[in-house]
Amino acid sequence: MHAAAPILALADSYGRVATDLRVSLTDRCNLRCQYCMPAEGLDWMPVEETLTDEELIRLLRIGVERLGVTDVRFTGGEPLLRRGLPQIVAETKAMSMVDGRSPRTAITSNGLGLKHTAQALADAGLDRVNISLDTVRRETYEQITRRDRLPDVIAGLSAAHDAGLAPVKVNAVLLRGINDDQAAELLTWCLEREYELRFIEQMPLDAQHGWSREQMVTADETLASLGQHFSLTPLDGRGSAPAERFQIDGGPHTVGIIGSVTRPFCGDCNRTRLTADGQIRNCLFARAESDLRAPLRSGASDDELAEQWVAAMGSKLPGHGIDDPAFLQPTRPMSSIGG
Ligand code: SAM
Ligand code: SF4
Repeated sequence: MHAAAPILALADSYGRVATDLRVSLTDRCNLRCQYCMPAEGLDWMPVEETLTDEELIRLLRIGVERLGVTDVRFTGGEPLLRRGLPQIVAETKAMSMVDGRSPRTAITSNGLGLKHTAQALADAGLDRVNISLDTVRRETYEQITRRDRLPDVIAGLSAAHDAGLAPVKVNAVLLRGINDDQAAELLTWCLEREYELRFIEQMPLDAQHGWSREQMVTADETLASLGQHFSLTPLDGRGSAPAERFQIDGGPHTVGIIGSVTRPFCGDCNRTRLTADGQIRNCLFARAESDLRAPLRSGASDDELAEQWVAAMGSKLPGHGIDDPAFLQPTRPMSSIGG
């Protein structure tokens, strides 16, 4: 069935149109990655502030059926901790965009427990997974995530692969003095298993505000380190995708580099974000949010919610401004925004 209402675009004043929706399903997590949150965790969002499945699906439907969203990625916190995830995926896949097709769906996850849910998620229609894995050494994994869970992630990755959620993508963050000497080792491990690896520069989004530019391992450094072991040929056509892709040793495999800080892709950004408590964010680094939960709970119509979402995107800034001396990190950490 086609959406009945006319389509509005999630456009901003710089000519960008958002079609890629990142949804944070929870701010909770079962890991404590150093670059994300402190060892003791955070004060989790109260349950009553979190959108119910029904509220969430209503907003997703508005995004997909009225506002031109074509891709929905569930993240967090850890999205696998959200009970009912397969049902949420199934309901999202049952939505129809203006052209009658269903949106593409994906999760970004730490992979813990994926061994048990990969098949159910694939059956629900999930298209893709991105699993975060920064090292294949057990001690280093525990040092970074503060949990000894590497075998669970490895099992989750292969379950996703076996369930047909291919190509499985792996996201890695390199930390100076911890795993920055392991880039080639991780890439070799991923290549052997046909996982597509992407390195992401560390961003100033951790709850404890511990990021520093000097400590960040840059895209250039990562490329230099990989270049000692592989021949890398840049591929054209990054488009709105944040990863610059490189062919490895003449192909066919590739590796991605996401230089969020040193090679920003803001000019081509096509993202819009919904937090677990129903706030629209027009950028990872936005300092303002637009509340859809209050109007949703006080009887706003779909038209009104759609208009508010459009307005929220209209004020998107041209870039993240990390290099601006006046840059201020957003109040919400990555785990609550949804990475
Ligand atoms: N828990 C899930 C996971 O780890 O995949 C989803 C949420 S996590 C916030 C999403 C992604 O953000 C992960 O790939 C993680 O490595 C990355 N991330 C977290 N903090 C980051 C930071 N300060 N800079 C860059 N990437 C970060
Ligand atoms: Fe959890 Fe993901 Fe943050 Fe690690 S990066 S603490 S897995 S939310």
